Amino acid sequence: MSKFELPKLQYGYDALEPYIDKMTMEIHYTKHHNAYVTNLNNAITGTELEKLSLEELLATASKVPAAVRNNGGGHYNHSLFWTIMKQGGGGKPSGKLADAINATFTSFDEFKAKFTTAAATRFGSGWAWLLVQNGKLMVSSTPNQDNPIMDVAEIKGTPILGLDVWEHAYYLKYQNRRPEYIENWWKVINWEEVASRFSSIK
Ligand code: MN
Repeated sequence: MSKFELPKLQYGYDALEPYIDKMTMEIHYTKHHNAYVTNLNNAITGTELEKLSLEELLATASKVPAAVRNNGGGHYNHSLFWTIMKQGGGGKPSGKLADAINATFTSFDEFKAKFTTAAATRFGSGWAWLLVQNGKLMVSSTPNQDNPIMDVAEIKGTPILGLDVWEHAYYLKYQNRRPEYIENWWKVINWEEVASRFSSIK
C-alpha cells in the first residue's frame, strides 16, 4: 500500500469557474498532483525515508534525494492549495487574521499588493506564500515545488496561504497572462480556511 495518497477534492472541477476553469482543475488535480504523489511514493518505498512524515521529509529537504524534495513539495503544496480555495470565495479575511494582516502590512490592500508582486515576479515556476514565522506574518515566494517548511527556504515558517504560479496552473485559460490569473485568484480564496490554519499555529 502506498504511504501517501491524493487527498479528496472538496468541490467539483467546475466550482472555481470562471476564474479557474474546469479543464485546468481536472488536469491539475488528476494528472499533476497525482503524479507528485505517485513519484513521492516511488522515491521513498523501501528506503529509510518511508518512516518519516511529509513534514519531516520536507524539513530535511537539503538532505533527501531531489525526487523527494520535488514531489514531496508538490504533494504538500497542492494539498494546501485546494483547501484555500472555494466556490463563492474571495473578499477579505475577518477576525484575528484580519487584525494580524493590518498590523503587519498596514492594510489588506498593502498585503494583497505585496503578495501579488511576489507571485508575479517569481521567475519561472514556483509559489507565493503567506506564512507565519515565530508568530509573525510574512510574504515570500519559492522556486519549483519548494515551500517555507523546507530547510532550504530563504524565509522559513508555516504557510497558511499559497498560490501556484506554475504555467500548468493557468496556461489553458490565461496563456501568458499570469497577472490576470493572479488577480482572479483573489476571488476564490477560502479565507475561513486560511484563518483556521492561522489560529491553529498561534
Ligand atoms: Mn501545480
